[in-house]
Amino acid sequence: MYLSTLDLSVKMRFLKDIFYLFYPNLCVNCEVTLLQSEQYLCITCTNNLPVVDDNEHVNVTLKSIFYGKVDVKNVRSFLYYQKHGITQKIVHQLKYKNQSEIGQYIGNWFGNNLKEAEVFKDVDYIIPVPLHKKKLKNRGYNQVTEFGEELSRVLDIEYKPNVLIRTSISKTQTLKQRFERFSNNKTKFKLTNKNIFENKHILLIDDVITTGATLEACCNELLTSKGIILSIATIAYTPRV
Ligand SMILES: [Zn+2]
Repeated sequence: MYLSTLDLSVKMRFLKDIFYLFYPNLCVNCEVTLLQSEQYLCITCTNNLPVVDDNEHVNVTLKSIFYGKVDVKNVRSFLYYQKHGITQKIVHQLKYKNQSEIGQYIGNWFGNNLKEAEVFKDVDYIIPVPLHKKKLKNRGYNQVTEFGEELSRVLDIEYKPNVLIRTSISKTQTLKQRFERFSNNKTKFKLTNKNIFENKHILLIDDVITTGATLEACCNELLTSKGIILSIATIAYTPRV
């Protein structure tokens, strides 16, 4: 029987889901058995999380990703992202439905840090970078939903998905990197209602900032809303070397 790549990836995901159903209590990073008091990460890995410092230098660096592209008020990121590192594993887990609650765990931690720093206290709505309908159908959910909903709960700011939508499917990450300039042009976002965000401060959230191109495309569409102010918060970012 012909087995398409999609079928295979769905089956692999199914097998992984089954695996986690029976072995749910392993550290996401080092895979040691977790103690009852531990959630998702063992204490050693929790202490080794590459949490981004909330200081002026880092905040300016994060904001500078968008300099000359779009005007953003504040940019914050929770973790440093490195290939094969702990953050990559966490972000990967978000893509498996029965492990995606880790987004809530991260959202709670990050949300409390942000609340203490009072950086987003005048934000009106939190919105996610949307997935394309087809991708949403395949995965069944947006991987940043649990993260966003938890930020919304901790910061007491309304979470508003579905106003900003994605109108074309993006290439895979690998192809995206290879054909950066071309794929960016194909990613289009659309506001289904331009009035709702007028004169509002919006916190746009995503999993990882790499080049910032996707977030930039979202911002460009959001900026068609009169008087809008934009800020960005992500689970992780890849520092430039
Ligand atoms: Zn561990």
